[in-house]
Amino acid sequence: MRIDKYEYVDAHCHLYEYSSKEIERFTENVLIFAVADDFGSSSLTLKISQVYKNIIPGIGLHPWEIGSSINQEEIDKTIELIARVKPVMIGEVGVDAKFREHTLELQKQVFLRILSIVKESNLQPIMNVHALGSWEYVFNLLVKYDVNLAIFHWYTGPIHLLKEIEAQGYFISINPSAMFQKKHRRILEKAPLDIILTESDGPYNYRGHILSPDLIKDLVEFMGKVRSEDIEVIRKQIIENTENIIRRIKY
Ligand SMILES: [Zn+2]
Repeated sequence: MRIDKYEYVDAHCHLYEYSSKEIERFTENVLIFAVADDFGSSSLTLKISQVYKNIIPGIGLHPWEIGSSINQEEIDKTIELIARVKPVMIGEVGVDAKFREHTLELQKQVFLRILSIVKESNLQPIMNVHALGSWEYVFNLLVKYDVNLAIFHWYTGPIHLLKEIEAQGYFISINPSAMFQKKHRRILEKAPLDIILTESDGPYNYRGHILSPDLIKDLVEFMGKVRSEDIEVIRKQIIENTENIIRRIKY
């Protein structure tokens, strides 16, 4: 995959929720890591990646849906799909201890099953993880299961973990919410530039802001301001970080 034609990177987007017209427009200058939430959206994302070759498709089981809209049968089916397809990316997966505490045990079981499949099959896909309220727990498991590549999506975890994420060769993605919410800026100020990616989590509605790949350009400009760094330096570093990820994928 050649990514030098892209100006921007969206490292976490629910692309299957958009129309083909929108997908066509976004993918013109944004390289998109297309995550999925369940069996249906994983299958759809794989199909989209047949049409739009330059996206990175994922198979996922969203922690918010586990134990609610996703039942045991669907969990099994999706894990079988991972084993069969050997995807380049697994996500959105993870554990959310903040907003879904009532399904925590089941989320952990599912995440552990996914990690076991990855380890047993000797795959080295990108793990696109959601780890709200469980940053260290998820980080420790990724290390334990020898995961080679991981992106901590919408990172709002502890500052001290950033160094460990860097040492492990993992990445974090910064969400446009940093532009609207002061508490999300702290990470942007502190994170080493060589682990930073940009993401939209589109089309999620964050406090009235509809997130989309269209916001990435503004986000990069904002990052330049916050870090007192040239915007082009930041934009190019994000492209370089992405090239680094793509080089390291084995599937
Ligand atoms: Zn998401």
